[in-house]
Amino acid sequence: MEKVAFITGGTRGIGKQIAITLAKCRYDIAINYRNENEELENTKKEIEANNVKCLAVKGDVSNFEDCEKNVEEIISKYGKIDVLVNNAGITRDTLLMRMKKEDFEDVINTNLVGTFNVTKNVISYMLKAHYGRIINISSVVGIAGNAGQTNYSASKAGIIGFTKSLAKEVASRNILVNVVAPGFIETSMTNVLKDEIKEEIAKSIPLKRMGTTQDVANVVKFLASEDSSYITGQVINVDGGMLM
Ligand code: NAD
Repeated sequence: MEKVAFITGGTRGIGKQIAITLAKCRYDIAINYRNENEELENTKKEIEANNVKCLAVKGDVSNFEDCEKNVEEIISKYGKIDVLVNNAGITRDTLLMRMKKEDFEDVINTNLVGTFNVTKNVISYMLKAHYGRIINISSVVGIAGNAGQTNYSASKAGIIGFTKSLAKEVASRNILVNVVAPGFIETSMTNVLKDEIKEEIAKSIPLKRMGTTQDVANVVKFLASEDSSYITGQVINVDGGMLM
């Protein structure tokens, strides 16, 4: 029986690359999405081109009931979830001085509460199966902080604390919980920055380039695999040496 991986926010960017990379390793895939669009259809086709199944479930990770329904739908189709990748995330960058209450709440509710909502609904199935891999996508700014990102940094730091606590709770059931903390990766999230700013940032990175979505997906693939079976509660930075 193929292993099943559920990737939140899997229609584009890092999540899409993770889904395709795991599909290449013969996982059946489930992704969630908020709106039907061309992006979703193309991603589904790219996943299925690897001769694996792809189920797309509609839901907002910040909504607990949506997550409950998403997980039920995946379980009724596949019977299990072996790997969960909590990837869905947003930014609402601005200095605290100017930050609206909604900017703070939206980011915490999507990134941190979303990670809780999905994991809470998946964990009982993993506990019963005595098997699971949970990989939470944080960020190096959750470790180092970043001006203009108090909301985002707090959400990503929260994900690290959540991960370590859960790793301790479920280790005895052979469920491993780890964090991948990307640095500066080329996606629509970073495309909003001006080219000059991107070049400046790239210069400050020891490996002198922005990361690719594949750089992140490769580490998720490792953490999902049996090669990482003695690793739990860890934060692995994928940042070209930005933070060391
Ligand atoms: P992206 O904006 O391209 O993709 C984010 C995905 O999450 C999209 O598919 C979006 O629809 C989905 N999403 C957002 N809110 C959602 C919600 N409430 N419910 C369901 N889905 C939702 O961004 P990306 O760069 O691919 O980011 C993926 C993850 O990586 C995020 O958690 C982000 O914080 C993290 N990250 C990105 C970078 C970077 O440089 N791009 C760096 C560090 C961490």
